[in-house]
Amino acid sequence: MKKLRLKKKSIVILIAILGLFIGTYYSTEALFSEFISGEFSISEAPIQGYAFIVNEETWFVLEDPREMKYVIDEYQKPMIARLNDKSNITSIEFVEDVKIKEVMYSGTFSSAKDALAKLNENKDEAQLYTVMKGDTMWDIAERFNISFRQLATYNSDINLDRIWPGNVITLQPSKPSLDVIITTTQVVEESIPYTNEIIRDNTLISTARVVVKRGIEGTKNVTYAIKTLNGFPHVVEVINEEILSEPEGGILKVGTQTTMKRRSATDFGVTVGRYTSGFGYRLHPITGRREFHYGIDIAGPQGTVIKAYAAGTVTRAQFSSGYGNYIEINHGGGLSTLYAHLSKINVSVGTRVTVGQQIGLMGSTGVSTGSHLHFEVKRNGTPVNPLNYLN
Ligand SMILES: [Zn+2]
Repeated sequence: MKKLRLKKKSIVILIAILGLFIGTYYSTEALFSEFISGEFSISEAPIQGYAFIVNEETWFVLEDPREMKYVIDEYQKPMIARLNDKSNITSIEFVEDVKIKEVMYSGTFSSAKDALAKLNENKDEAQLYTVMKGDTMWDIAERFNISFRQLATYNSDINLDRIWPGNVITLQPSKPSLDVIITTTQVVEESIPYTNEIIRDNTLISTARVVVKRGIEGTKNVTYAIKTLNGFPHVVEVINEEILSEPEGGILKVGTQTTMKRRSATDFGVTVGRYTSGFGYRLHPITGRREFHYGIDIAGPQGTVIKAYAAGTVTRAQFSSGYGNYIEINHGGGLSTLYAHLSKINVSVGTRVTVGQQIGLMGSTGVSTGSHLHFEVKRNGTPVNPLNYLN
């Protein structure tokens, strides 16, 4: 089918002129036969072709519909290459009014190569930027007045949080002569969060969360329709959701208790151990004198965890000869607590603690006969019986 049709127009004109001068001497048939025997086909009968028409203007005419398909495919190939692998293309359309028309044509057919060149001739080159030392994506976005989101769209192959000098960033992709809208669908499996039923429990401290029944997330297939302009995401919308499994709700116990409480003979909330001395007058175990004891003593192994009585701010975390390593916490409202003879202090002055938070470890520092916690509660600076605050 391939015929050489070069210079056909000029040949036609030439024939017309020759005809004027020598038409009386030779018959046209004779003239034709001379040319037909040469390398030029000069048949004037129109041949079926395929015109690529943009806004009623013919850009080129191809002879073979397969060539037309090839040219359009080649033109759109780089746009399609930008799509996510999991995309399912549902339509490809030109933004301009483009028609492919079957025509009877007697002009010069374009080659596929020329047609492709014609399609690509008006494209604007991409605007690129080479990252320099000290640049951040935010600087670049601001300098070139582009949104960060837009930059992310144009540079999906680059981790924009970690750019290096020499990285080439696309500020504006090349604009093709004919914009193409490619619509794709993509199915993504997503989770459905569960909700927890909350049970308030006044036997648990306010920071406690106890899972009674663990919830199970559901799953769904979400179908997105993604319109891309020249292969860059443009409009994304959810078009379908198919639930694969429903979420199962959980049950959560949330504590409401704002102070530590004594739970048993040995569990005093702030620590665990044996009750060895109460609040009030007693014979001091070391001096042997009758003295007022401003707290309670709970004996246990060195290293037993000591917890904050309630939420508050640490006002003292230091060593003294009598208390040894000790901590004082201001709980507000005139209430403060003191923890003495610690082997280790886990907080410092200014630390904000929550109820039940570990603040140190039991020990025997200062004036002490063995590992124990000396625990004091003060109301407006005056020591009060801690047992009344652990009820
Ligand atoms: Zn004591």
